[in-house]
Amino acid sequence: MEIHEILGAWYEKEKRDLPWRNTSNPYRIWLSEVILQQTRVAQGTEYYLRFLEKFPDIFSLAEANTNDVLKIWQGLGYYSRARNLHETARYLASHRNGEFPGSHAGLLKLKGIGDYTAAAISSIAFKEAQAAVDGNVKRVISRLFSVREAINSPEGLRTINALAREILDPENPGRHNQAVMELGACICLPKKPRCINCPLNAVCMALKENTAGELPLKYGKVKVRNRFFTYLIIRQNEKTWLKQRGAGDIWQGLFEFPLIETQSQCKINDYPSLLSEHLKTKDGEMQIIRVSDPVIHKLSHQNLICSFIHISFSGDTNLAHIAGNAISISEFDAFPVPKLIERYISVSGF
Ligand code: SF4
Repeated sequence: MEIHEILGAWYEKEKRDLPWRNTSNPYRIWLSEVILQQTRVAQGTEYYLRFLEKFPDIFSLAEANTNDVLKIWQGLGYYSRARNLHETARYLASHRNGEFPGSHAGLLKLKGIGDYTAAAISSIAFKEAQAAVDGNVKRVISRLFSVREAINSPEGLRTINALAREILDPENPGRHNQAVMELGACICLPKKPRCINCPLNAVCMALKENTAGELPLKYGKVKVRNRFFTYLIIRQNEKTWLKQRGAGDIWQGLFEFPLIETQSQCKINDYPSLLSEHLKTKDGEMQIIRVSDPVIHKLSHQNLICSFIHISFSGDTNLAHIAGNAISISEFDAFPVPKLIERYISVSGF
């Protein structure tokens, strides 16, 4: 039996029952692929179902307000992906009557759709013979064929892509791609591959050479940098201040409390002068009510070390220059905010 035949038979028997399986609707496949690039299946399923309930098709997404899209996405991270989904839905609704291009090449022209997502959509929705290569697939292929090049190098990627194309099932490319991904997610695990249960154990080179534990090879990891954030939770009667983040940094388009970023972590004694320097308030207008312990929030390449200062403000200085817009505290939940802020407020309040 060929590798794709073994995999296809295994997948039919063992695949998990997930809500985006057994559909050829490109909108649903697209959404599931974008969500699953950044989260585990259990959490991704919740987001997927919630997103579809709110935006069941291209047109409802296209007509949505960006803040509503970001709100549904809140907590998933990589917010540029939500903005791209939204922008592409608008383009498809207005220029293509809601229809997706039916080929890998056509899909690649859409904003936010890269090689992997285009291959997944074109093979699953349109049965085009394209190999979809994500992290799981790279791991499976590099072990199956004992690839000794780093999978994050151009030559390693070329080798993996060529091998993925070689084993592709031309009759059923969508099922095949899902089968390789499923094998990577459930059997050929990063740390402890379950080779004993693997349908490919008779042909796997890494198993034969006892090298599964060291594959795939990768070049050194990206350096993580520390950033120091001080958030100001300003209370003015029943209002607080929120500011929308701009382009060129994390969380574009999300809302947050007025932020002061510093080169190192502030000490508690630094806060009064830091605040009057930034807010340019008059003496006696504000009072620090409490300061949180540092909260560490990890992103893929950054550690954010954050403090939240709760401030009572009673003056008439206009804070809009630093603090954004005053909103009623009761409206806070309607704004898309980073997970860090959502969590902090749900535990500590205003
Ligand atoms: S035999 Fe083991 S290492 Fe090889 S593909 Fe299967 S799970 Fe991965």
